[in-house]
Amino acid sequence: MAASIQHTLKTVFGFHDFRPPQQEVIERVLAGEDVFLVMPTGGGKSLCYQIPALHRDGVAIVVSPLIALMKDQMDALIANGVRAACLNSSLSAAEAGRVFQQLDKGTLDLLYVAPERLLMPEFLERLGTLKLALFAIDEAHCISQWGHDFRPEYTQLGRLRPLFPGVPIVAMTATADPETRKDILGQLGLPNATVFVAGFDRPNITYTVIPKQKPLAQLGAFLRNRRDEAGIVYALSRKRVDQVAKQLQAAGFSAAAYHAGLPDDQRRRVQEAFQRDDIRIVVATVAFGMGIDKPNVRFVVHYDMPKSVESYYQETGRAGRDGLPSEALMLFGMGDVMTARKLIENSDNAERVRIEIQKLNAMVAYGEALTCRRRALLSYFGDQRDHDCGNCDICTDPPQRFDATVQAQKALSCVYRTGERFGMMHLIEVLRGSKNQRVLDLKHDKLSTWGIGADTPATQWENIIRQLIHLGYLTQDFTRFGALSLSSAARPVLKGETTVTLGMPRNTVETVERTRKRAGAKKDYDQALFDKLRALRKQIADAAKLPPFVVFSDA
Ligand code: ADP
Ligand code: MG
Repeated sequence: MAASIQHTLKTVFGFHDFRPPQQEVIERVLAGEDVFLVMPTGGGKSLCYQIPALHRDGVAIVVSPLIALMKDQMDALIANGVRAACLNSSLSAAEAGRVFQQLDKGTLDLLYVAPERLLMPEFLERLGTLKLALFAIDEAHCISQWGHDFRPEYTQLGRLRPLFPGVPIVAMTATADPETRKDILGQLGLPNATVFVAGFDRPNITYTVIPKQKPLAQLGAFLRNRRDEAGIVYALSRKRVDQVAKQLQAAGFSAAAYHAGLPDDQRRRVQEAFQRDDIRIVVATVAFGMGIDKPNVRFVVHYDMPKSVESYYQETGRAGRDGLPSEALMLFGMGDVMTARKLIENSDNAERVRIEIQKLNAMVAYGEALTCRRRALLSYFGDQRDHDCGNCDICTDPPQRFDATVQAQKALSCVYRTGERFGMMHLIEVLRGSKNQRVLDLKHDKLSTWGIGADTPATQWENIIRQLIHLGYLTQDFTRFGALSLSSAARPVLKGETTVTLGMPRNTVETVERTRKRAGAKKDYDQALFDKLRALRKQIADAAKLPPFVVFSDA
């Protein structure tokens, strides 16, 4: 069987090798099993149902949400000599009639159909009389409210499994979020489907997260070493985008702003200039990205934390499409987490709030991870790795551990003494002995914990407290402005019965890069080729006399 699907791959589609896990997926479907395939856009999901459609008796029914997508797929198949058709609201009655005739005569290999059409009783009845090769459900995340593109007409697709018990179902999506996936499988009623998660790793992207402290200065330090490279800086609000773009321009960078608040023609100009390398850096909201297909994006910086790991993955994935080494840098600050929480909690839809908080928590956990970033990222997508990547910030500069028992005791008792009613920033002021008016008004300067942490800088306290939250000694109540309270794990620490070990933060881009160089970070690409290309790009840039870059100074 494998030889013959290989043959179809070559003769019909013109490809020489399967990509993982196409062959295995195809074999399962040929064996009549249900499959759920999670693979990023462009990974090659279509072949996974198109080849079985040609190898199994009967017609394959493909559910697809968009008429334009359907038509493209159908045209491509027809061009390869495959008997394909589609059925949707854009067809005239006569055209639809011809498709029905082909169906009844059994002269179709694949039929693309909109979900609402598929689920019409008379159509289901007709299908009942036909020999069916398989059902393929493309963009299967449309069935889930957890997904980003919920379509009510998809929810009825759960009826297919009981109605056509012998026909294999292939569900496909690029949406990697675990909750959405669970929901898709549940709703489609495919408890026995084999789940394939593939293609999420981007080995040429190096992931780095640094605590957000002086973001403009940190961004400047990062860009300083990348003067003639193209990159995207994502920020959450239009206002922030405008600010950052202005600052970069003032510092001599070839940068432009991009967000939905700008006129269409201006946005188009920025996108085109970026595409042509006339502008090096685009500072943008998430509105920038759809339809950018620029191979040589060398870095993606998240100036603000994105609201989910999927957004983060999708945005960082715009770097390094050419396979050359690229960087993903995120500035991660607790302030952003609080802002994101507040925005989410403004919604009246309790279910939406629950979903979005869960997604946000996963994002925060990624930012706080003290283990290999790539493993953390891939494991979130269900792609479990048994080894560290060797080139993320954690791998090249593993956090030093230190005995933080004394600091932990100070922080925990400060939480206790102030009545478990205050957020991190206030507690740090008390620990550091601040004479801030609010501290004085609350008489917190009269407490025994006032000033006991004056020897430790505020940023370090922030880091320590964040880890205490992450490790479960403290609980943060976001319905009360992030007020911290003690959890049961805090007791033995306060009583001196147990010690606390924490990781030392790596604070700056410079330290991360220096250590990475020293560690001789593992590379999955051809450095010589990259250097050659970089030199060539520089020559081109010099010849074109692009605006000079000046060194960015601290804001
Ligand atoms: P997806 O649906 O996952 O976004 P597609 O099925 O549209 O991806 O495939 C993306 C691209 O990859 C297409 O141009 C397709 O022809 C190509 N492709 C798929 N499988 C292979 C393969 N085995 N070898 C080479 N190219 C492939
Ligand atoms: Mg597709």
